[in-house]
Amino acid sequence: MIDEHAHPFALEPGSLDLSHVSLDQVDAPNAEERRERMRPTFLWHALLRSRLADRLGVQVDDVEAARADAAREYPAYVRGLFAEAGISEIVMDPAWPPGSEHRVAEYEALTGCPVHLLFRIDTLVDQLLERGAGFDEVLQEFDGSLEERRAAGYVGLKTIIAYRTGLAVDPGVSDHDAAASLPGEGPLKRRAKPLRDFLLRRALVFAAEAGLPVQFHTGFGDSDIRLSEANPLLLEELLRTPEGTAADVVLIHGSFPHHEEAAYLAAARPNVHVDFSLFNIFAPARIADRLLRLIELAPTGKVLAATDGFALPETYWFAAMLTHEAWSDVRRRLQELGAGSEWIDAATEAVFEQNARRLYRL
Ligand SMILES: [Zn+2]
Repeated sequence: MIDEHAHPFALEPGSLDLSHVSLDQVDAPNAEERRERMRPTFLWHALLRSRLADRLGVQVDDVEAARADAAREYPAYVRGLFAEAGISEIVMDPAWPPGSEHRVAEYEALTGCPVHLLFRIDTLVDQLLERGAGFDEVLQEFDGSLEERRAAGYVGLKTIIAYRTGLAVDPGVSDHDAAASLPGEGPLKRRAKPLRDFLLRRALVFAAEAGLPVQFHTGFGDSDIRLSEANPLLLEELLRTPEGTAADVVLIHGSFPHHEEAAYLAAARPNVHVDFSLFNIFAPARIADRLLRLIELAPTGKVLAATDGFALPETYWFAAMLTHEAWSDVRRRLQELGAGSEWIDAATEAVFEQNARRLYRL
């Protein structure tokens, strides 16, 4: 399986600390205590610990200690997880957590998988806004950064504009609107919507010319996001512009919970793809159902498997293991429906490997 969307994780063994694996990122004086209290009541938390305990051959209560033992030989431990999960290559967004962009070789050595990088444009836009750059400077640095990443062999772009000013990107925003929005006020992440929209359109033009796909965060995420601004249907006007039609677009996370909307866009718009990731960590009970909702409508030639693994190597392993199990259920259902083994095998090959290989030119 090519893991088509994931993030950096701990390069040192540390402990099985799941405190960073949470959708609840709301800051408050008692936030840690609150998260600590709720964590054991999440299904994903119970499943991750019990499955890891099984893997390590211990009772659930002993999983932290057994993991500490096993992770003493960290490279062997991590390779074991990735091998068991069937992950052979990783497409990584190194922007979060920050500081990992130049550590690719370490991730490759640790996982035994080639790692291919994405460039997240919003991090750069945030930095430019923060330092009060003028419009010409913004354009120069933005274009230069895109060009630099292409030359360095990055395989795609990524945007989290859903986490900023939302997916309702104005398809007609002009350079004049963009420049006028620069001296904005208010929280940085919510500032300068016209500029953010304008630069995203510019990135799509670049991506189309460079042959790089653009991953769009869609659907759920941590508490920083407004889910109402992350519905992929908000992209419909942008996807009708020349640049929105020319560039390959991937709606990530299956746009959870908007699976059918994402599947529709992948079915109806020639350049739109959809990946399934993140919900196979945080919503682990109905993955097969969600995958079926995607592939009953979207062509399997445009659906991609991914984990959104982050923080700990076990998140990659957990998501991938559950995904393989879910896909077995999906295969069974397709068989019952009469899809035929040959078609199902070709779909499996496409979703888990060939689509990513073609789209990212791996
Ligand atoms: Zn992600």
